[in-house]
Amino acid sequence: MRREQNICQKCGSLRIGNSLRCSSCNNLISITPIIGPSKSNITLTSMWSLRDFLPDYPNPVSLHEGNTPLLKVKNLRNLLELSLKLEFRNPTGSFRDRASSLIISDAVKNKSSQVIGASTGSFSISLSAYAAKAGIKSQNVIPQNLELSKIEQMKVYGSNVIEMGNSVEESITEAKRISKEANTYLATPENNILAIEGQKTLGLEIALQKEFFDALIIPRGSGSLIYSIYRGLEDALASGWIEELPRIYAISLEKTKSAYIAESLEIEQPFLLKEVRETIKFSKGKEIEIDAQQMIEEALNLSRNEGLFIEPASASVLAAAGELIKEKEINPKHSVAILSGSGFNALNIYATQLRDKRKVVWGLSESSTTKFEILNLISEGKATYGISLWESLGRAKSKQSIYQHLNELQKKGLIVLFEQDTKIKEFKVTKKGFETLEKMRDLIDFL
Ligand SMILES: [Zn+2]
Repeated sequence: MRREQNICQKCGSLRIGNSLRCSSCNNLISITPIIGPSKSNITLTSMWSLRDFLPDYPNPVSLHEGNTPLLKVKNLRNLLELSLKLEFRNPTGSFRDRASSLIISDAVKNKSSQVIGASTGSFSISLSAYAAKAGIKSQNVIPQNLELSKIEQMKVYGSNVIEMGNSVEESITEAKRISKEANTYLATPENNILAIEGQKTLGLEIALQKEFFDALIIPRGSGSLIYSIYRGLEDALASGWIEELPRIYAISLEKTKSAYIAESLEIEQPFLLKEVRETIKFSKGKEIEIDAQQMIEEALNLSRNEGLFIEPASASVLAAAGELIKEKEINPKHSVAILSGSGFNALNIYATQLRDKRKVVWGLSESSTTKFEILNLISEGKATYGISLWESLGRAKSKQSIYQHLNELQKKGLIVLFEQDTKIKEFKVTKKGFETLEKMRDLIDFL
């Protein structure tokens, strides 16, 4: 059973609540590895089969998370025999369900009627679902311009979504502020140690599912997943499930203009960067940067050859694994790549990427398709001026071409420019514009 640790090991301050860091010295709260039952005494059905390693919740809020399959690559030649941990098979499509199950169980135990969290999407979707299951309210602070299919999922589960800030760091700060002000349970994974404890079950599961492995390839993101898996493996080591800790390869995104493809990897100052770097160094692994365009190609390769649909950010590990295998740095038979998120969380990105196909279907030129999309965005009030339209279209076009399209739409009388003062400018769709949109939509339905 777990030991309660209420004192910061660095400065000796009393630890309050589930904070991930000491409120006095900001040191990461360290948890002594837990010695659990032997491997043969565990029958894995869900994450809660590992409750000996988790804080005690007699009635956990669960949607049957965890126990995700470990599958071997059979068709992709460059990755043959590599084990894939299918984390996107979790209830809401990501490893974050392990965190949410524990965090919401804790919120219920604390009799909280409302939770608040911040993330780049997957965690917020997950939190919304688990809060719904527990019958409590959820609020999610997310950065602006997040992929629409993610926001819609949060709303489907009844969550109150607040778009705030240009980076997830700003959203995290805002969630923390609201939590303090409104005395709401703070669920953000970067602020709550239970996220690490829930997500660590992923590491424990790999140790149960695979006889021997010496390398793990993991997307870096905020560092939370890597740190969690490592925590799980420490428990597995302490319990005699594995003999040695594997090398950890952390995959992050090369800073390119196509970075929008992988929101969850696009993090400016990873909260656990220092700790993750120490972990990687200690494990004798390394950090690898992958180009965003390469990710989407890997993701499509996977879906077309192995029948698995993942989000582009998650495919970064496949691109990296390919390189590591080529360099003979890893043996695919003894390596596990974590596929962390579902392709359903990135439908708009795929739609943008596969636009050429759509062009053929609609019989429309690329330029007409873009005009239609711009008109559509303005009509819905989602983006009403140059820069916001450019961002909403995935930054895939030049800003110049967006202004050109706006000019032409204006000339045809489909949109008008409103200027309240020199600072506030926005386009609005005219009656003729709306009629044109209707006709276009009919046409698309017909096709
Ligand atoms: Zn301290």
